[in-house]
Amino acid sequence: MPAFKPPGDCPICGEFVPRGLVSCPACGSCANSGWSEEAGYDGLDLPDAPEDFDYDAFVEREFGGRRKSSHLSGNLWWWVALVLLIIIIVTGIKSGRF
Ligand SMILES: [Zn+2]
Repeated sequence: MPAFKPPGDCPICGEFVPRGLVSCPACGSCANSGWSEEAGYDGLDLPDAPEDFDYDAFVEREFGGRRKSSHLSGNLWWWVALVLLIIIIVTGIKSGRF
């Protein structure tokens, strides 16, 4: 979001901020406190409401269909765990002997 510069409508409360002012006369927002959502959500349009969040589409987008091979990678992790377990057991036996 680009920084707000007066003159213009305050992005926080929507009040007009005249040229030359560094802070909103109505709500007190300024460049230091941030003309952004950090100062308050009230005046902003939220593009994604939590109710509209499509989890399946999100996973598909983020993981690029990796779910299709989840069975294979699940097996892989089983083998990794098994090998690690064997290494730990063998190391334990060795250190027990010497
Ligand atoms: Zn304001």
